[in-house]
Amino acid sequence: MMMILAQQFGIGRVLAPVAKEEFITLLDRIVLSAYSGEANTCCCGCAGEHRYQLGLEEIAGNSRGYSVDSEDVSDRAINTRVNKISRAIYELGFENLSLANIRRATEELEIKTIQVGDDHICFDSGTRWTIAYFLPKKYLPLIKN
Ligand SMILES: [Zn+2]
Repeated sequence: MMMILAQQFGIGRVLAPVAKEEFITLLDRIVLSAYSGEANTCCCGCAGEHRYQLGLEEIAGNSRGYSVDSEDVSDRAINTRVNKISRAIYELGFENLSLANIRRATEELEIKTIQVGDDHICFDSGTRWTIAYFLPKKYLPLIKN
């Protein structure tokens, strides 16, 4: 089991399954990290900040390729950003909240304030980008319910 996990995730060491039962979610997806920064610019962190969900730091570090500093872990920041995105979705009047539905609707209606990708959703206020990055599906086996 442990060997399989190590190979599956392409890492040199084994990630322990996460024991925490409740994570902050958005559209039924677990939020791995959330970003807030200047609109229409680089998202590396030079014009904003990434914050990571408590309990998912190891997975986040593995996913991005280098470890997450403890000062960058903040459920409070994640909550604030997720709420901001949720409010924007709500204000657009979507009833059936799934990532696929929102992507289809925003594309069809050419709504520029919300962009949906496979692994993220971004609310563009015009001056700021607020982005929730979702836990990649390959890491779901590490989440214990
Ligand atoms: Zn940058």
